[in-house]
Amino acid sequence: MTRSPEDRRRLLKRISLLLAGIVAGLVLVGFLARPGQKEPEVALRYNFTLDGKSWSPAIKEGNIRVELDWDAAKLLATYPTGSGNFISELDLAGSNPSVSNRFGNLLWPQCTRITTEIFIDQDIPAATRAQMRSATISVLLSLKELTGLDVVVTKGSSERGEEFSTAAQRISTPGDNIIAIHWVDKENTLMRPSELAAATMWATHKRGQQTPRSTRIRLSSSLFDTMPEGEIDRLSKKMAIAHELSHVFGIGHSNNPDSYMYPVIALNSSITPADRAALALAGSRAC
Ligand SMILES: [Zn+2]
Repeated sequence: MTRSPEDRRRLLKRISLLLAGIVAGLVLVGFLARPGQKEPEVALRYNFTLDGKSWSPAIKEGNIRVELDWDAAKLLATYPTGSGNFISELDLAGSNPSVSNRFGNLLWPQCTRITTEIFIDQDIPAATRAQMRSATISVLLSLKELTGLDVVVTKGSSERGEEFSTAAQRISTPGDNIIAIHWVDKENTLMRPSELAAATMWATHKRGQQTPRSTRIRLSSSLFDTMPEGEIDRLSKKMAIAHELSHVFGIGHSNNPDSYMYPVIALNSSITPADRAALALAGSRAC
């Protein structure tokens, strides 16, 4: 099926408008210690800004397990800025970590098995739920490959094992090392009409390092039904899902309009060499 240029323009406009609202509503909740430890809990709560400062702390500590081509690998060079800080070639290429602060970058550790669970609103038609499930799984498998992280899908991965996203589920705190993904019907008042995704992350701070403990992410069905079909490396439902899920794997927005992590996804967006380097860094935290 081919689209007329007019159709394509209209579609692109709609997608641009939709994705412009994507920055909204990401909150990170930080814990100073796990329960049972001496330090006080819930000391930090701050906005998940998606424009973390620099990849250089991750590059310095990095134990990259993904094989990178030269275009991506050369972006891992770092330079002193003169004030004791470092800037990386990757920062200059426009890529940002989702969170980097005095605790360094927020990254999942390599030895952690990250369990993902897919919950879908029962109000969404069964055929669409099946497509959402398969697109989400396919994106998770791509992110697993691109980061080298140990990502597995447990709940909600098949029709027989379907899990519905209930009101209680959508506000519950996932267990340790779980990413709970909720597909919410766009008619549901839980999400604002302009809101495409909202994530809450719980993090652990230990020895000056921060690691995610669990994550809950809500994806609006409008994210799914506005996009054309397609693969992860061009404009598609899968690329939009990859954009959202990459945030909870530690990647913020890119300043490069060609990147799938740019706040507005366009027809020529792709996973650029800088995005591949960032994804490899997202999986570079040694245990
Ligand atoms: Zn985003």
